[in-house]
Amino acid sequence: MIKLMNILQNYLKVKRIQKYSPENFRKWQNKQLQKHLRWINKNSPYYQQLGKDGLANLTNLTHYPFMNKQLMMDNFDNLNTQGVRKDEAFKIAMNAEENRDFSPKIGSTTVGLSSGTSGNRGIFLVSKEEQSTWAGTILAKLLPNGFKNKEKIAFFLRANSNLYESVRSKKIEFAFYDLLDQFDSHIKRLEDYQPTILAAPPSMVRRIASAVKENKLHIQPIKIITMAEVLDPLDEAYIEKVFKQKIHQVYQCTEGFLGCTCSHGTIHLNEDIVYIEKEFLDAEKTKFYPIITDYKRRTQPIIRYRLNDILTLKSKPCPCGSPMLAIEQIEGRMDDLFILKNKQNGQLEYVFPDFIRRACITASENLKEYKVIQHSVQDLEVQCLVFDEDKRQETEESIRANLMAYLQDQYLIPKITYRKYQENHRLTKLKRIQSNVGIDEVVQNVQ
Ligand SMILES: [Zn+2]
Repeated sequence: MIKLMNILQNYLKVKRIQKYSPENFRKWQNKQLQKHLRWINKNSPYYQQLGKDGLANLTNLTHYPFMNKQLMMDNFDNLNTQGVRKDEAFKIAMNAEENRDFSPKIGSTTVGLSSGTSGNRGIFLVSKEEQSTWAGTILAKLLPNGFKNKEKIAFFLRANSNLYESVRSKKIEFAFYDLLDQFDSHIKRLEDYQPTILAAPPSMVRRIASAVKENKLHIQPIKIITMAEVLDPLDEAYIEKVFKQKIHQVYQCTEGFLGCTCSHGTIHLNEDIVYIEKEFLDAEKTKFYPIITDYKRRTQPIIRYRLNDILTLKSKPCPCGSPMLAIEQIEGRMDDLFILKNKQNGQLEYVFPDFIRRACITASENLKEYKVIQHSVQDLEVQCLVFDEDKRQETEESIRANLMAYLQDQYLIPKITYRKYQENHRLTKLKRIQSNVGIDEVVQNVQ
């Protein structure tokens, strides 16, 4: 159990840092980064060796090699600073998963299993102190009234580690909802619990919002936070209408707590715990992959770790005054890029999900929910759930017209097939834009 005192300390620290001027913030951040790199070089055998081989200059981040999941798993034993062996960590994590035990530990280090196909699962290690920093930072950024009022947080997640069970006190309480459970049981528990804060993937929040709208559930959360899936503007609008409030987002993955919305609804990256380099994807330099260096994580260093998420920079500064990088939107994963054939040169090119998304949601007021799946370069599937079935054809035609308008100047338009809307299985992440095309065949150019 994490001590409230530690959380409070982190909370106050976060509040102080958020007020720094941009110059002072960068200075402070650089100092943190240097301190962290020095420590890692002393304590991680992997980086120690790189230093000895002359492959990394320990004071300069840009001299460090890029890291990804594969590399991290391949060098697991030498990377971590606690001498934990990969086979041992895997065994403990797998056992915990099977027994639904949410506190697998080696000593005082928590072992977690990241999602991924069976051959591609990652292991992560987090110490007690790191958990405390994590909880303090997350709460500092998301609690609507600081520690003034008692908050009851209903937290929905795919259960696979004890990271989330760590906070309970007079001022704050978490109730944990397993996404595996039946929706009806969630409704009953929510009605009894009456959370002040609701935190869940957008697809779950949308179902909860529907239940509220249909008078099957009566809750009045003062803050709603979505995470773990891309928040589609269509769902955002629906939920905001039902709960009559702005929705907040947390941007988080196994590799860290990377960002969340401020009081103005802008997503800021958590540069007070993570240093971000950008790998730009377009000539205008608005879209990029983040390369993250977490300067709070010592147990399992995350240094220059390249994520597959596509982020869009916000063009105007956020009025909240935070010195931390503001993001317009999180578009989705690299895997969700569509691939179309360029009319002029016949090359296959990437198309951002955002184009497809906008083509759908601006098509018709009649659209309730949708999915667009690309099966091949020639074949798109569109699934629509509509409010008024009599106007279905009109709605579908309007989506087709929008897709044509967005794409036909540049690309050969694939065949568009309409199918019945498929509800999501409760264990899979909802993706409104999904690509099943292999990315190997693409020549170049993200558009
Ligand atoms: Zn802001």
